Amino acid sequence: MKTTHSQELFRRAKELIPGGVNSPARSWGSVGGNPLFITRGAGSRIWDADDNEFIDYVCSWGPMILGHAHPDVVSAVSAAAEKGTSYGAPTEGEVRLAELVVDSVPSIEIVRFVNSGTEATMSALRLARAFTGRSKILKFDGGYHGHGDALLVKAGSGLATAGVPTSAGIHAGLAADTIVLPYNDTEALEKAFAAHPGEIAAVIVEPIAGNMGVVPPQPGYLGAMREITERDGALLIFDEVISGFRVGLDGAQGMFKITPDLTCLGKIVGGGLPVGAYGGREGVMAMVAPLGPMYQAGTLSGNPLAMAAGIATLEQLREPGIYDRLERLGALLEAGLTEVFADTEVPMTINRVGSLLTVFFSPGPVRDMADASAGDHEAFGRWFHGLLEGGIYIAPSDYEAWFVSIAHTEADIEQTVSAAKAALESV
Ligand SMILES: *Cc1c(COP(=O)(O)O)cnc(C)c1O
Repeated sequence: MKTTHSQELFRRAKELIPGGVNSPARSWGSVGGNPLFITRGAGSRIWDADDNEFIDYVCSWGPMILGHAHPDVVSAVSAAAEKGTSYGAPTEGEVRLAELVVDSVPSIEIVRFVNSGTEATMSALRLARAFTGRSKILKFDGGYHGHGDALLVKAGSGLATAGVPTSAGIHAGLAADTIVLPYNDTEALEKAFAAHPGEIAAVIVEPIAGNMGVVPPQPGYLGAMREITERDGALLIFDEVISGFRVGLDGAQGMFKITPDLTCLGKIVGGGLPVGAYGGREGVMAMVAPLGPMYQAGTLSGNPLAMAAGIATLEQLREPGIYDRLERLGALLEAGLTEVFADTEVPMTINRVGSLLTVFFSPGPVRDMADASAGDHEAFGRWFHGLLEGGIYIAPSDYEAWFVSIAHTEADIEQTVSAAKAALESV
């Protein structure tokens, strides 16, 4: 595969942008090689600067659930752009997108739009602290909630002790207020609340973990979490930035029938433009400025182009049969990949929920970050490059999900499975 244009662009980028990228995962740090610079996308396909064509399972890390350049989204954004791109005043698009969100997700009565998933989680935590008057927060090892300071924290040495920053530059006091527990461990959660009664403002969780690879909640786990937080008076925040509108219109909370206090959205809700959102019941959201004392704002929040893309996307997703189709395609991909690996000695586990899946190079099961870490990451890296040669573009890490879109076809899945088989020869 010829990649001279991408190589030249990366060389120029590295002189100007840290590591040549505006988000670290794009640098292919864990698989090696020169990241591809993408020039266009259509449906399930993307093309790089050397005009190589790929079936895309990154889908912008989740937002492109309709595929690239969906005609409804393109025309909605173009029509909005012709009327001006930002006014810093309220617009009808914000009302319309809010209606679509509130109508889709029953636990959200009131919603505030922001510009990214990071802003959504940062704001939801501030709101939880404002509402409860408590300062500690609790998150899970391998859970990713954007790059807010309080959340760039991993587990310390003992159970339910202060967290340790995963980034330089995090205020130690802030990290000390973040408790980090293993995911899918109800007993650890019970113990943490027993150790810090009445001190934890909120538990923030990806109800279907998507950033340690896809790891679904064990049966009863989210229900126990709801029960424990409610008993203590802590808020339960579902970070549905990936799972929202991905596993159904009502997200993971609809799938598992759990009502969180607050929900964070991002990715799909903006249809490929920068949008995040946080929302919940009226009594909690009444704390948000200008109604209440919790300040949060944004010059470009509710941007007309972004709202137009979100509206067009959510309206498409309300068409009947969409989620059945995503489930069918996901199941087909899982079955094909399982068969390909079954013919080899390579240990492999697939975790899948609908159109989200991860291939772990380990015998499994994968239930938490420790299990996800146990895989053979080097073998994955070789497979990644083999897939690329076969025209398949997946995330450059086995701690990430594959995203199937409604633009993917059965033929795309078949082509992917045969490329996966060929790529296993390089593993
Ligand atoms: C992507 C992601 C975020 C952060 O969203 P950004 O728009 O990248 O800031 C937060 N939470 C989860 C679960 C995510 O996957």
